[in-house]
Amino acid sequence: MRFKRYKHYIYRYKGVAITDQYFEVEQSFFIWPRADRGYYWDEQARPGGLFAERTELTPMPPYLLETPETTEFYYTKVMEKEPALFTKLADTPLTKEGILAFANAYGKLTRGEAVLTPRYSYPKGQKDEKPWKHGVLGLREGEGGRTYGEVFGESLGFWRREIRDMRCTLKLWGWLVNQNMVALERVIHWSKDGHGVNYVLTDWEMLPEAKAADDIMDQLKATQTPFSAGLLASKDHHGEIFARFKPGDVLLPARYLVQSRINKKLQEHLVRPRLLMNERNQLEPYFYPESLLAALWYQFFRVATGKNQLRRCSVCGLWADVTEKRKNWSRHKECANRERVRRSRAKNSGHKLATRAP
Ligand SMILES: [Zn+2]
Repeated sequence: MRFKRYKHYIYRYKGVAITDQYFEVEQSFFIWPRADRGYYWDEQARPGGLFAERTELTPMPPYLLETPETTEFYYTKVMEKEPALFTKLADTPLTKEGILAFANAYGKLTRGEAVLTPRYSYPKGQKDEKPWKHGVLGLREGEGGRTYGEVFGESLGFWRREIRDMRCTLKLWGWLVNQNMVALERVIHWSKDGHGVNYVLTDWEMLPEAKAADDIMDQLKATQTPFSAGLLASKDHHGEIFARFKPGDVLLPARYLVQSRINKKLQEHLVRPRLLMNERNQLEPYFYPESLLAALWYQFFRVATGKNQLRRCSVCGLWADVTEKRKNWSRHKECANRERVRRSRAKNSGHKLATRAP
């Protein structure tokens, strides 16, 4: 295998297939590939391999795939370069364009939701001129004796679910940090008899001002807004946690909800402990996420435990990792510069504006 070190953070690997061997060679940090020619939504791709027959479990099209022009992958050290990337996923619009922009910048979320045969194919016997430049998992005979390449893809539904899950949990966490009681009281609901606590997580921007639990559920169903809801804790369900809640309190239940959401995701998307050897030949602990999605929830995990600190930039409003920054950090350096330029321009053109304004 040929590996080429490229700049400081980006690695190139000619030949496309991502193997664990690669990680053994690099033996350092979590890196994640993104296709050099970007991604596209394939509306006609067919789930193949394990998913050859359409079942209820088959994800629905469209699917996000590397473009056939893909010649190689760039590798990014996500945990170091973008320690707050999970906030960008949370802010990603649920549109095809929004998701595509994220994928073009950072790659897919996992190693693939399903094995797919993309829409492009070649006639039998034309082995030399494949309509794709990237590697494939295998070849598949399709309609009219044409040959299709099998690749891993992710459905639009999968992306939307994952963005929503991240967004809901991050919003909840933000309300908790800011002690936003109005927002938290819409999420956490004590049962009338006080014997249990329920939760509702959804995109609250879609909802008019509903406060009572019954109203919220009615409006969610009426507007067909996706949500997740259920029993958070009661005497019989996580009783040891329930015993810690004070009747009517929403703060501790909300914290427990954040905890259980992150735990659930890290159960689905694994982060494994691993030993690495440093330059002085000493063994060091390292945590190795199995996918970008696992890395993003691991970032959230670190923030929730205080290992990493986040703050919203006062200019652009985006989250920034301020763990290594000074205590009173309030804005990105670039944002502060832009703001200064804008102010001085406004000041200099103030005279003209004043004469133009009625
Ligand atoms: Zn900013």
